[in-house]
Amino acid sequence: MADVRLIDVKKAFGAVEVLKGVDLEIADGEFVVFVGPSGCGKSTLLRTIAGLEEATTGDVWIGGRRVNALSPSDRGVAMVFQSYALYPHMTAYENMAFGLKLAKTDKGEIDRRVRAAAEALSITDYLDRKPKAMSGGQRQRVAIGRAIVREPQVFLFDEPLSNLDAALRVRMRYEFARLHGELKTTMIYVTHDQVEAMTLADRIVVLNGGRIEQVGAPMALYQHPANLFVAGFIGSPK
Ligand code: ADP
Ligand code: MG
Repeated sequence: MADVRLIDVKKAFGAVEVLKGVDLEIADGEFVVFVGPSGCGKSTLLRTIAGLEEATTGDVWIGGRRVNALSPSDRGVAMVFQSYALYPHMTAYENMAFGLKLAKTDKGEIDRRVRAAAEALSITDYLDRKPKAMSGGQRQRVAIGRAIVREPQVFLFDEPLSNLDAALRVRMRYEFARLHGELKTTMIYVTHDQVEAMTLADRIVVLNGGRIEQVGAPMALYQHPANLFVAGFIGSPK
């Protein structure tokens, strides 16, 4: 069980304050989508939740525990990036198994988890292929599989579909919705794409310049944007 609580999270790089006080509570099992213009701090916020960046002030709590008090392997989060970040010399299977091997997970257990993830993502036929012999969509599925096998309590996705073509993005959107329905894990998902945000989110968080402009269910934001900025982001067609 993992809810996520951000309490007045601020993050500065040198003199530049990127996150200017973010307060947010995400319920266990919720699908929350962060949207906002390029440079507004979405990736920084995600990395701070993952404990990859330490907040300058404020706290991040996951499942009632302070993230920065925990070693990375105990944080219960897994992050998927836009750029897949697969190991080129390893097969899909090896890419998914690698983190578990490092954690000294039993070989039988690794095999069980990799095959279950491959099944869920429809990539059982590609397990022996290396990334260069896979399509963009297949690569991104392997990257998602690598997160699934770790059985995290919270998934963090940073624009996971933005390198894919439009048709594949639509297909993968359904995959994310199905995956969330199946795993019922807390998911935090960053995107530029309004349709993705509207269709996937239980709640959308609109960020602007390191602050939250508005948080709400997709239809609530669409029908009652708090200001023109939110209206421009959620309301206007792409
Ligand atoms: P987004 O994901 O919304 O596009 P980012 O979180 O990547 O935004 O970046 C927000 C701001 O923080 C940008 O101005 C970026 O240049 C700056 N920034 C991000 N990471 C670093 C870093 N490690 N050092 C210095 N500045 C950074
Ligand atoms: Mg980003």
